[in-house]
Amino acid sequence: MNRIYLDNASTTPMDDRVIASMTKVMQEDFGNPSSIHHYGRVARSLIEDARKTIANILKASIGEVFFVSTATEAINMILNNSVQHHGVRHIISTVTEHHCVLHPLTYLQQQYDVKVTYLSVDEYGRASIAELQSLLQQASEPTMVSLMHGNNEIGTMNDVSVIGALCKEAGVLFHCDTVQTMGKYPIDVSEDYFSFISGSAHKFHGPKGAGFFYMNSENIIKPALLLHDIQYNGDQHDSFMAHVLSVSFPATEKADMLMFNLDIAGICVSSGSACSSGIESDSHVLVAIGHPADRKTIRFSFSKYTSMAEIDLVMDKLKGITPTK
Ligand code: PLP
Repeated sequence: MNRIYLDNASTTPMDDRVIASMTKVMQEDFGNPSSIHHYGRVARSLIEDARKTIANILKASIGEVFFVSTATEAINMILNNSVQHHGVRHIISTVTEHHCVLHPLTYLQQQYDVKVTYLSVDEYGRASIAELQSLLQQASEPTMVSLMHGNNEIGTMNDVSVIGALCKEAGVLFHCDTVQTMGKYPIDVSEDYFSFISGSAHKFHGPKGAGFFYMNSENIIKPALLLHDIQYNGDQHDSFMAHVLSVSFPATEKADMLMFNLDIAGICVSSGSACSSGIESDSHVLVAIGHPADRKTIRFSFSKYTSMAEIDLVMDKLKGITPTK
C-alpha cells in the first residue's frame, strides 16, 4: 500500500541530505567533541558548524545557541532556570500551550509558589494581547511571558513581534516555543525581542534527539543537565546520618580544583579519595559502592557546632566555584 504521511506536526521524515550527513558522521566522525585528538576536533567543528547555521538563521550570536536532546528538555530548563536563577515569580502563558510548557508551569506553581496567569484565547486559540498588555502594566514582580509562536494542534499563530515588543517595554523575560515554526517562518532575534526560543530538529526533517534553544546573552542560565549532574553517594531517603553528605561531580578539571578552591575560600572538606604512594584513587568505600571513576567526590560533614550561617556562607562560595559552571 502507498501510504501518505500527513502527520508532520508530530514529527517529520528525515531529509535525504540529513541522512547522508548523519551517516557520514556516525561512520567517520564519531569522536567525542571534548577530546583533543583528530576525531574529537572534527566532531567539535561539526557541532560548531551546526551552531553557526542556527545562529545565522536566527540572526543570533553563536554563543547564544545551545543544544539539548529535545524541545521538551529546553523548555523545562528555560522555565525552571528562569525561576531558580532569574528570580521569576510570575509567569504569563495560555492553556493552549504544549504540555511541555504546561506541566513545568504546574510544577513551578506547586514547588516554588510561582504565580501563573493564563491569558484568555480567542475562538482561534490566539492569546489575548489586551490582557497581556494590562497584566504587564501592573507587573510588580519579576515576570516571564511564555507563549508559543504556532499552535501544534490547530495551526493558529501568535504575533510574536507584538508580544516581544510588549515584553521588552515592560522589562520582562519572553520565552517563545517556536517548535512548530522554526525552519518554516522567519524568526529574527535582531529585529524582535526574545529572551529564549526553543526548537527541535525532528519537526523540520532533522533527526530526533536534537533540540536546541536560543538564549539572549543577557539571560545566561545554568545548563540544567550539568547542574543535575550532581549525585549523592549515600542513601538520601531511608536510613542515613544527617551529618554526612557525600556528593559527586563529573571529574572535570574544574572539579579537580574544587577542593583547592574551597580551601582557599576557608572551607575545609574532605575528598572521597585515598592517596597512596602519591596516586589518588577512590576510597575503598566508594569503590565498593561502584562510584564511577569519571566522578569526583567531596564529603561535607557537620557537627552541633556548625551553624546555619556557616552553611549559607558555604553555599554562596560553592555557587561561585562550582565545578559544573
Ligand atoms: N512544543 C510544541 C509546540 C510541539 O509541537 C512539540 C512537539 O510536538 C514540543 C514543544 C516538544 O518537542 P520535542 O518533541 O522536541 O520535545
